[in-house]
Amino acid sequence: MRRASLLLSLVLFASCASPKGATLPAAERRLVDSPGPTLEIVTWDPAKATGHPVLRQKARPAAGLAKADLAKLDRLLRATLEKSGGVGLAAPQVGLPLRVFLVQLQDGAKTVITCVDPVIEVRSEATVDGYEGCLSIPGVGGKVRRHESLQVRCLSIEGRVKIYETSGFEARIFQHEYDHLEGRLYTDVLDGELMPIEEMRRRRAAEDGRAAEDGRAAEDGRAAEDSRAAEDSRAAEDGRAAEDSRAAEAEAEKK
Ligand SMILES: [Zn+2]
Repeated sequence: MRRASLLLSLVLFASCASPKGATLPAAERRLVDSPGPTLEIVTWDPAKATGHPVLRQKARPAAGLAKADLAKLDRLLRATLEKSGGVGLAAPQVGLPLRVFLVQLQDGAKTVITCVDPVIEVRSEATVDGYEGCLSIPGVGGKVRRHESLQVRCLSIEGRVKIYETSGFEARIFQHEYDHLEGRLYTDVLDGELMPIEEMRRRRAAEDGRAAEDGRAAEDGRAAEDSRAAEDSRAAEDGRAAEDSRAAEAEAEKK
């Protein structure tokens, strides 16, 4: 405990003592200064337990970085997330061991927010099952039990403190992305088996169908909740939207 607070003081001192921000190691500097609009998403193969080592590493705080570097990183992450069509992306997924992630809020506008050095301050006791996939583990998916709601504190890119009260699918995204900062992947906390993405979709569709039937049968507020849950689990996958849009394009090409 004492050591942790000493370490924290040192980190704070280091960030205060260096107005230009921490110097990045050469490999990270190359990524942050990438001339391209997006970065490559690095992957992990859970079956072989091999892949990019940064995905298995605890990321370090990012608030001490130079403002310009944080802004560049934010631009790159946003462009990479947009290209992938996902709903969340963490810096380790582009090979940067920094505590930064993006979450697409499930508001009407689908606002993408950037969380620097997030802390999950409150986790609900209630948990909920849902299917997840990950841009860094292509081709598979599985069911994961997550806290139903959370309170997350983090910093914006400008360094302002932000508090997010989140629940449902959005809370699932926060937890999935937070795990990336801890070097943890959803396959580590799977509730059941990992399956090919097509199989996951088949099961999800079957479960969605059941939820929809429940919804029709119910006459109280539960119907609405069930159908929201069904929608949430359909979307509960980082890369799903991208694949859907590819599928839609393929469909369009056929026509
Ligand atoms: Zn992921």
